[in-house]
Amino acid sequence: MSYIHQVKVKSVQNDLGVILCKHCNAVIATLPTNGVKKFYNVCSSPECAEKDKREGAGVQKEESLKSR
Ligand SMILES: [Zn+2]
Repeated sequence: MSYIHQVKVKSVQNDLGVILCKHCNAVIATLPTNGVKKFYNVCSSPECAEKDKREGAGVQKEESLKSR
């Protein structure tokens, strides 16, 4: 449990984690992480949303939303 605490405190200064759009590589957001990390998501562009639908990659997100 204390691990989460440490990360939060350390990460205030540097946002090493970055969320990239997996279709156009736009930076969607940065995250305070302990070390350089890349995450892939879909940006708000309609084109990318459409691509994401076609690839069926949005299924995972929908599932995680339903499970809550
Ligand atoms: Zn995009």
